[in-house]
Amino acid sequence: MNRVRLLVLNAALGPLDYSVPKGMRVEPGSVVIAPLGPRTVTGIVWDEGRLPGKQVDSNKLRPIREVVDVPPLSAPLRRLIEWTAEYYCAALASVARMVLSSGGALGGPTTMTEYRLSGGLPERMTSQRLAAIETLEDEQGTIRELAGIAGVSEGVLRGLVNQGVIEPVMVAIDRPYPQADADFHQPELSLDQRAVAREMVDAVAARSFAPFLLDGVTGSGKTETYFEPVAQALRMGRQVLVLLPEIALTENFLSRFEQRFGAAPVQWHSSLKSTERRRAWRAIAGGPKGGGAQVIVGARSALFLPYADLGLIVVDEAHEISFKQDDGVRYNARDVSVMRARFEGVPVILSSATPALESLHMASSGIYKKLVLPSRFGVAEMPAIKLIDLTIEKPANGRWLSAPLIEGIAARLAAGEQALLFLNRRGYAPLTLCRNCGHRFQCPNCSAWLVEHRLSARLACHHCGLETKPPEKCPECGEADCLVACGPGVERIADEVAELFPEARIAVATSDTLGSPERAAEFIAQAEAKAIDVIVGTQLVTKGFHFPELTLVGVVDADLGLEGGDLRAAERTYQQVAQVAGRAGRGAKPGEVLLQTRHPDAAVIAALANGDRDAFYAAETEARRDAGAPPFGRWAAIILSSEDEREARMAAARLGDCRPVQDDLYILGPAPAPMALLRGRFRYRFLVNARRSANLQKALREWIGAQDFPPGVRVGIDIDPYSFV
Ligand code: ADP
Ligand code: ZN
Repeated sequence: MNRVRLLVLNAALGPLDYSVPKGMRVEPGSVVIAPLGPRTVTGIVWDEGRLPGKQVDSNKLRPIREVVDVPPLSAPLRRLIEWTAEYYCAALASVARMVLSSGGALGGPTTMTEYRLSGGLPERMTSQRLAAIETLEDEQGTIRELAGIAGVSEGVLRGLVNQGVIEPVMVAIDRPYPQADADFHQPELSLDQRAVAREMVDAVAARSFAPFLLDGVTGSGKTETYFEPVAQALRMGRQVLVLLPEIALTENFLSRFEQRFGAAPVQWHSSLKSTERRRAWRAIAGGPKGGGAQVIVGARSALFLPYADLGLIVVDEAHEISFKQDDGVRYNARDVSVMRARFEGVPVILSSATPALESLHMASSGIYKKLVLPSRFGVAEMPAIKLIDLTIEKPANGRWLSAPLIEGIAARLAAGEQALLFLNRRGYAPLTLCRNCGHRFQCPNCSAWLVEHRLSARLACHHCGLETKPPEKCPECGEADCLVACGPGVERIADEVAELFPEARIAVATSDTLGSPERAAEFIAQAEAKAIDVIVGTQLVTKGFHFPELTLVGVVDADLGLEGGDLRAAERTYQQVAQVAGRAGRGAKPGEVLLQTRHPDAAVIAALANGDRDAFYAAETEARRDAGAPPFGRWAAIILSSEDEREARMAAARLGDCRPVQDDLYILGPAPAPMALLRGRFRYRFLVNARRSANLQKALREWIGAQDFPPGVRVGIDIDPYSFV
């Protein structure tokens, strides 16, 4: 090969051709550095004939500068990059960046400094120094990590380094990972579990593409069961990817994994340090053998890592909408994981107690194989769901808990059990206004109210991250001490519980309070140790957690999710409530679920109360069929935005004027998006509804690709959107 075409990691550039100097060895997938003008670009050598572009004369080509010392990206991964770019109407370079841009994986230092006790003692002992010396025996890590373990400041430790009490050690960043043992602790599976596990284990052994929908009620042992095909892949010496929807769930998973396999898996998520990312990336590319990465547990971005020998993919809580990425390349990790499994020729397991309607449809069409775990493991029973009609059981003014729910909490506290109150709203109150003039506090950058966070004493925008101190005077009328909180958030519910039950130990569980893996781990430990009586939480606590003493779940506002024009509102409400209900009564004691609603007759609420999942899905399926919505038709959203309202509006109007006219494509808009202003940009939206027969991507590319937009206008295409803001 003396000339190659590169996919360069810069979306503004197309593919570029280079020559290969004598003696340099490259192959498709090789990562290389090449000159471009006075600078260099990183690129991936691509398969011949698969990237469009003009053929440049061979004698005009510049030579590749160097080959990066990482294994070439595999053919299945290259096909995945192509498919993802094509399907989601994204630039190839943007997708390739998700594979390669991972904290200096391609270069950078290969060693780092860690610290440990040297055995010496300081000249002067203080209580902090003593604490450090006592807790850091057998520990090694960065100063920051050690400070965290010892509970002292980094300054204290640096003082000890200066005195030689703590010594630096050079360690290789790419050091081996502890190896998992497939047979470390094999649980006794139930009959149902065994049958389901058997099918998945056989599929792993068969080394071919096989998509499964593992559909089991909450607490049925889905995790325990899918650990069997994971064990099979380990026995075959292959790698496994387990995708989780949130970092907050990782801690829980890690400890269960360790109990089963005797070693922690390799983690991949956004809060890894860059050295950890580098170590993980290289170990994943290096393969499972000899201290390499065997099982990788991660957030959606782990899907694009360069696995050397992938044998299985598991998507846990596969219905979760956080698998959908809503910026950059707008992909859905659940769908892309099925494609990756297909390109790799391996099984993929979508595990959920409340599968997405699309996934159930794939199963009933015979494309996915459905495996069912119909009942809870052991003695645990599914909890009964009771409705509380808020139009009859009215909470007191400015209060949100009805009498029956309060009685329920009181009974659990008296019995020494735990209760969980679910409300999917962070902060104290979703709206703040001035009692005097009615002024409402709005985000200056977004079409959204500012949410009061009393724990951090801030008004915050949940869309752009803006935070301000609540002002002492109303900015509109100048009146002092006039701000009123409207509506409930979890912090306010926690206050209400504290007033009602002053003795109760209450924990607020949201991404604000459990944002990091460490804090999540601490929360889990406290809840398990029964140091918490009442948990008040958002959707973060609806899944994954297993607290045997938790026997009451209260849904503060079951109607909340049904507001707004979201296509999947009913499905999402069903999933959220069924999931959070699934936290109750997972141990020996039976659980109870109380659902506060103003619409006890709404189809989804009634289905929840009757435990009639099939009826709900059947009705929802028919509604989708009538609307031409997924899985029967497809949607795409096109958002044009600009800092200049007029510019955005004009660009949208022009795009609207040349819309394609096709029988199988309906284009709605342009109209101001529901979030007409977001992060300081004005937004106009088209919604495209396509029949299954339409080639949606081709139509969009031809329509939008033919336009020239002013430089201030950004165009975002969202295929199969989940967010309709
Ligand atoms: P799911 O993922 O379906 O909600 P889990 O896998 O979390 O269910 O299982 C619920 C609980 O039951 C966990 O504590 C799990 O350890 C336990 N469990 C499930 N199956 C078994 C088994 N075969 N042997 C022992 N414990 C089990
Ligand atoms: Zn904002």
